[in-house]
Amino acid sequence: MNFPRRWLRTLQGILLALGSPIGWFVIQNLRVVPTHDPLLYAYLGFGTMLAFGLFGWYLGSIEQILRRNVNRDALTGLYNRRYFDERLDEEIAISHRNRRPLALVQMDIDHFKQINDTWGHDVGDEVLREAGEALAGTARPGDVVSRVGGEEFAIILPGCDEKRAIEVAERMRDALAARTITANNGDPVRVQASAGVAVSDPRYVEGPSAEADKLHRAADMAMYAAKQAGRNRTISATTLAAGGLLMSGAAA
Ligand code: GH3
Ligand code: MG
Ligand code: MG
Repeated sequence: MNFPRRWLRTLQGILLALGSPIGWFVIQNLRVVPTHDPLLYAYLGFGTMLAFGLFGWYLGSIEQILRRNVNRDALTGLYNRRYFDERLDEEIAISHRNRRPLALVQMDIDHFKQINDTWGHDVGDEVLREAGEALAGTARPGDVVSRVGGEEFAIILPGCDEKRAIEVAERMRDALAARTITANNGDPVRVQASAGVAVSDPRYVEGPSAEADKLHRAADMAMYAAKQAGRNRTISATTLAAGGLLMSGAAA
């Protein structure tokens, strides 16, 4: 369950604090001291609950920040490679159980090195941030948008068949191309990307990890084919396998 950590730790702190009045009650009864002063219990109970609860809140807040950072890419705020690999295995297992398709889009910015070389690394970083916003802004809740390499992004689309996945990839590429990024000298920086799409077969037999590798390779090969075919387009793994190279998206 995705219960916010700071609330969970606060609750645990409060439950832990109950040990204080209970402990005192036990000690008094063991020593047969008949002084069950309600004020003492109130002090022991609420005082420790407050202290432990606040400490739990503090620990939970730190834990939330650490958990977020461990899964995120610092530059774009998107999920990172580590999280992507974990989620892909999980989502494949879920899609298999529910007999639903699952698509993967692999996207790479075209001629990104030229952007760095022409306008500098800072503008390159700005392009990556804008790309992250464009992709995340186009995704639906439940899609997993990650930065998996320098200028490479991977998007897990649970429940998506190939046709829909190509549409999503195209929408994302359009959103990226529509971004207005201006270099320090006022030049407009045009950004385009190539994408590969692959869909997992819900009847796979080898287990989620093997299927994830297969899916990743297929999307990567389709993306590479999009580069070879002139960039600025989306190609799906099945069109690639069929040898037809039917492309969706604008030609470069
Ligand atoms: P292609 O169209 O074939 O993909 O060409 P490309 O130039 O986009 O690809 P290439 O692999 O030649 O260059 C990728 C560049 O991305 C090289 C690397 O210096 C740069 N890069 C990687 N990570 C970062 C980053 O975090 N910030 C910036 N500014 N550049 C980065
Ligand atoms: Mg590139
Ligand atoms: Mg690349």
